Amino acid sequence: MNRLLPVWRESIVRRREEGSLPHAFLIHGPTGIGKTEEALHLAALFVCESETDRPCGECDACTSFGEYGDLDFRLLRPVEKPCWVSPEELAGLSDPGASLKRFLDDGFLAPSVPEIAGRTRIPLTLASTHLFRRVGGRIRYDRAQWNRRVENGKFEPSEERFLLGLVTPLSLARYSSTIGIGHISGDSVVGADTAILKWISRKPSGRRRKVVILEDADRMTEEAQNSLLKTLEEPPADSVLVLTTARREGLLETIRSRCEDVRLSPLGETDMRDALGTYFDSLADDDARELMQLGEGVPGRAALVDLDRHRRERGEVEELIGWARSRSFDRFFTTLEAWIEGIESANEDSVAVARRRLTAVLSWSRDRAVEQNQADFDSMERLFRSTHRAAVSLRPGANLRLYLEEFGRRIWDAFAREGTPA
Ligand SMILES: [Zn+2]
Repeated sequence: MNRLLPVWRESIVRRREEGSLPHAFLIHGPTGIGKTEEALHLAALFVCESETDRPCGECDACTSFGEYGDLDFRLLRPVEKPCWVSPEELAGLSDPGASLKRFLDDGFLAPSVPEIAGRTRIPLTLASTHLFRRVGGRIRYDRAQWNRRVENGKFEPSEERFLLGLVTPLSLARYSSTIGIGHISGDSVVGADTAILKWISRKPSGRRRKVVILEDADRMTEEAQNSLLKTLEEPPADSVLVLTTARREGLLETIRSRCEDVRLSPLGETDMRDALGTYFDSLADDDARELMQLGEGVPGRAALVDLDRHRRERGEVEELIGWARSRSFDRFFTTLEAWIEGIESANEDSVAVARRRLTAVLSWSRDRAVEQNQADFDSMERLFRSTHRAAVSLRPGANLRLYLEEFGRRIWDAFAREGTPA
């Protein structure tokens, strides 16, 4: 437990001694950079019984915060953020591959399980079907419903234990798409008692402070943000609120100005390499290089990459672009059609697949632009720009086929000026 930015840690420790600690923090930086980890270290620093310059990681407070099982700790997390499980946990299942498939088929996991070999932490994403319940038009997180469905699912005891374990941490609640007013100040659905403001206004039950972490706080509705604002203006003395976001501009200026700002920037090469070491057992040099490139200094981003799939998808992109460059009209449009069908029929959220393919085109065109002569450079730049525009405008619920056909036409046009027919 010593990852907290050193300069910042010193300043926190100094202010803790002076009794002038802030009550609210805003940790921002790209998705996967480690904002929650940072928030947890910060939380531990506030509650650790050793009161030294870093959380001891061993006292009762540090341990129970670290396990997300403390009465004075709350964490609100979007459902699509993966649970990281260890290979040992998976090995507890008699046939891990078959069990994972069943969890997927039965709607407990979302179809995003990457290749597992070589990983020391495996990202599993919970599906929301069994985890949320619709009450009076609102969606409510319901751990008891999940547990019930697991118990009724006729799983083997080891499978049952595994699934129950995924939602056990009592301090951790999930939200489905936005953080609404119900989460902050309570309503008939979430219940005022479990809402954050009510909870934080009570005395800590054993720790020195109560800590709340809101992940992706920019997903608070405006109503929720306004409701939180009152607490930020007059925070309870023994409370700490930590907001994390990858989109700082998504928060009201009035919220931002009342939080101490902590920015996490992408890591340099050495730190990135070290960070990857916490996700993978041993990495071949080629794989490591490619992951570093794809991660762009953000370890959590690299760790989610399924390299085999990435290489396959990149190969498809190369083929498609190859036909556009050689101006092979028929082959280009036949390949495009197969490409679109592949995306539509994928066994996962097709918008997510489409987004990944666009990212593959982006990284391909960027890499190539660096190596090209001027004529090629211009085409690559056109390709990069139109892909970037496409990626930004891709929204769930869009007419995907129409969208991808239009995007295909842009790829074709990007190379129009090279004009050398095959
Ligand atoms: Zn401690």
